[in-house]
Amino acid sequence: MCGIAGIFNVPGAERYVADLLFSIQHRGQESCGISVRRDNGSVLTYKNMGLVKQVLTLDILDRHTGKTAIGHVRYPTAGSSNALNSQPHTIELVQGSVMSICSNGDIVNYSELRQKLEKEQGFVFTSDNDGELIGRLIAYHHHSASERLPIEQAIAATQNELKGAFSALLIYRDTMYAFRDPHGFRPYVMGHLTWQGVGEMPSEGTCFASESCAFGIIGARFVRELKPGEILKLEKNRPLTVVAVNAKQPRHCVFELIYFSRPDTITFGESVYRTRQHIGATLAQRDGDIPNGDDLTVMAVPDSSNFVALGYAAEKKASFDMGLIRNHYVGRTFLRPLQDARDEGVKQKFNPLPGFFTDKRVVLVDDSIVRGTTLRKIVRMIKGAGAKEVHVRIGSPRVIGSCFYGIDTPTRSELIANNKTVEETRDYLNADSLRYLEIPDFQHLLKKPGDFCTACFSNDYIYVPPSFVKTNAPGC
Ligand code: SF4
Repeated sequence: MCGIAGIFNVPGAERYVADLLFSIQHRGQESCGISVRRDNGSVLTYKNMGLVKQVLTLDILDRHTGKTAIGHVRYPTAGSSNALNSQPHTIELVQGSVMSICSNGDIVNYSELRQKLEKEQGFVFTSDNDGELIGRLIAYHHHSASERLPIEQAIAATQNELKGAFSALLIYRDTMYAFRDPHGFRPYVMGHLTWQGVGEMPSEGTCFASESCAFGIIGARFVRELKPGEILKLEKNRPLTVVAVNAKQPRHCVFELIYFSRPDTITFGESVYRTRQHIGATLAQRDGDIPNGDDLTVMAVPDSSNFVALGYAAEKKASFDMGLIRNHYVGRTFLRPLQDARDEGVKQKFNPLPGFFTDKRVVLVDDSIVRGTTLRKIVRMIKGAGAKEVHVRIGSPRVIGSCFYGIDTPTRSELIANNKTVEETRDYLNADSLRYLEIPDFQHLLKKPGDFCTACFSNDYIYVPPSFVKTNAPGC
């Protein structure tokens, strides 16, 4: 998972992009970077390992100033963890022209397309990152002797060749392009910024980000989501142009609503926090067998489950409590690539309120179960703190498949739902009961359920890598 941001034709674009990236830091904490088009036409890129505030310091931003900028925060779903895989990528074209590109998503036919460019065209890659592949494909279609397509058509040809998820931004000469995969897997929004420098007339510019929550920090207005397959062109002194909309059946990632996006984001036409509240309410409606009482407390595994637990407690007319205190200086456990780091992170991350759990019946709400190792430790922690019962409620269906479109779920063999039944999972967690949101209940909550990818719950993949073998999860 990653995030992108960009802004066109606004003085101090580098600072706005740094702020936008800071607001979507939850989408990637490993590395970040920025590319800026300077007034002299050159493009400067700076990227490194680390958080936005560590990498894009005021000193760095002072040396990368311009009116057009794009940036990226990275979490590695494919490719190794090093600075070469951070984005944006700067790609030299012939005649000394340079493009800079960044993308959020994963390309399923990455290896096949890369080999084609390397073997048949002699391209040399500097990373194993999809953003670079997308840029080199565009460069190929734009400059190869056989094609020489105008840049807009080169982007469209690339869009057509790629199988997978990509929300991308590209700077080429004095133009910026924003484009998205034909299924619209990852969120992608456009905003409008009005500003007025001291002694200047008011001006306006266009901004982009992976999530609408980012616009608040720079005072931009949310305009709309990019359509699946859309290609937008931004040029100085010209209105924004829709170059093409090469759309296919939408496949918006449902996990963005469940877990990944910030609650203050509106994505795929749905309010994230409201969707999570409705999930919680639906879980509570299925839970008539848990009686209310003064000893009953509903709590979330903070923070992504907070609104699900709030929705559950409101529907159940039970008390919602913050029994677990989260240390915010530890990164998201799901976002830490190594299992050792993930295990260590759980212990550092949560601590129970002293005395709070004694003789309590706890409904513990989490957004999903992937491996189950984290949740098992939390249940143990709560019971160790004195709870007499822990009932686990999960705000998503059972995760039985890996994601190939940009979310870092582990291999199928590591997913607990592929190895254990619901009852075996409850036993592994040492919970007193366990209940998931059922797929039909979840689809009922979406305005357009047919527009969502639910492959990790259903195995209904639209694209799979060559190594994919379909298996069935054990029944309930
Ligand atoms: S497979 Fe799951 S995580 Fe991946 S895009 Fe589809 S819904 Fe999202």
